[in-house]
Amino acid sequence: MSKHQALASVRQYLSDGHFEADLRRRIAIQSESQDPAKAEQLGRYLHEEIEPALVRMGFQCQSLENPKGAGPLLFASRTEDAHLPTVLTYGHGDVVLGYDEQWREGLSPWELTIEGDRWYGRGTADNKGQHSINLTALEQVINARGGRLGFNVKVIFETGEECGSPGLREVCQAHRDLLAADVFIASDGPRLNDSRPTIFLGSRGSALFSLEVRARDKGLHSGNWGGVMSNPAVVLSNALASLVDQTGRILCLGLVPSSIPDSVREAIHDLGIDQHSLGLTLDTHWGEPGLTLGEKLFGWNTLEILAFTAGNPNKPVNAIPPSAVAYCQLRFVVGTDWQNLESLLRHHLDAEGFQHVKIVIDRCTPATRLDPDNKWVRFAKTSIAETTPRKIAVLPNLAGTLPNDIFSDVLGLPTLWIPHSYPGCSQHAPDEHILESLILEGLEVMTALFWDLGNVA
Ligand SMILES: [Zn+2]
Repeated sequence: MSKHQALASVRQYLSDGHFEADLRRRIAIQSESQDPAKAEQLGRYLHEEIEPALVRMGFQCQSLENPKGAGPLLFASRTEDAHLPTVLTYGHGDVVLGYDEQWREGLSPWELTIEGDRWYGRGTADNKGQHSINLTALEQVINARGGRLGFNVKVIFETGEECGSPGLREVCQAHRDLLAADVFIASDGPRLNDSRPTIFLGSRGSALFSLEVRARDKGLHSGNWGGVMSNPAVVLSNALASLVDQTGRILCLGLVPSSIPDSVREAIHDLGIDQHSLGLTLDTHWGEPGLTLGEKLFGWNTLEILAFTAGNPNKPVNAIPPSAVAYCQLRFVVGTDWQNLESLLRHHLDAEGFQHVKIVIDRCTPATRLDPDNKWVRFAKTSIAETTPRKIAVLPNLAGTLPNDIFSDVLGLPTLWIPHSYPGCSQHAPDEHILESLILEGLEVMTALFWDLGNVA
């Protein structure tokens, strides 16, 4: 059989309704990892849906114990020859809460509903629809090649992604050898937009921290004490202003990368981000001066104030508040010294005269990025370009954050994410959907990619 025939058979799998039937069964399983009462559904999804599909393709499956006691994990491998390249892929079987009552009339999170190009249901975009596309493509290539792929595959499925993937890091650390591979290829998140097939190679990191000024236990009447007693809200506002200016430029230089590598700059330029390309009109005056909009979003850091309180905003009174707190987030790219965030902040605030501002570092997720010039990226770009005439978008990293460092740093793999969803998919919200046109394109892209992988060795 030829690649052409493999593509014809995957198109037929979709047009004959088989893909719809698979996804319909998967959407009906209420695998909401954020609801402890649904814990059983997590294992059910893995063992009733994913495992049988993998066994049919000749995978050997084993459950991996979750050391954090959270949702179960499934590992599977299919080895043809130890000398062939090995691909590790990933999916998550859990979904966010259904929010059943908030869906538009006629829609339910647990029933696949098709209206024109849109396939509605919880998990259609995140992540059941996406991993179903990849498993289908893999199976079609196995069938088309008479039971042979030409490469080895390992699969890891988790069921806690929507709760921050508890245990996934520890499992990957403990099973490094079992999970050893040459490249990581998986699908989650959105494409740049519905018209550009996308590869993203990592994500910005995220560091959550709070800054707090506590002057005293009680509020003081501003008429009796104002002018002779310090105001924590005023101090904190000024401390924040010393970190980031009125146009969003980060003033604490330790919190930005030293530069944007040329290959990353080129890849970002190719995305063609302009004031209108992301759906909302962008604030061109905002962010680091001298950078393009794309560089600000994908190649640089941003310091956001997520929440800021002092006194009682719902009922302001004439009093100097006793304390003030700001919850902040640094979204950062590779090359940022985030491991030293606390001392960088401390040094900066002390130098600016804010010794009384307390810093509490909360959750940090590292940034990751694969060089867009990496050979696997070039391979995937060539394969996709042969499948679709549409212009490919290569994102050096997502602007958002994923725990991709588990695969890139813990397992040491080049990581390629090929998403099949689009920004308007209402992921994590009511009316989540995937587009049939992108299912078709995803099936074609992945089938061709898996076919071409069989010719690499
Ligand atoms: Zn999600």
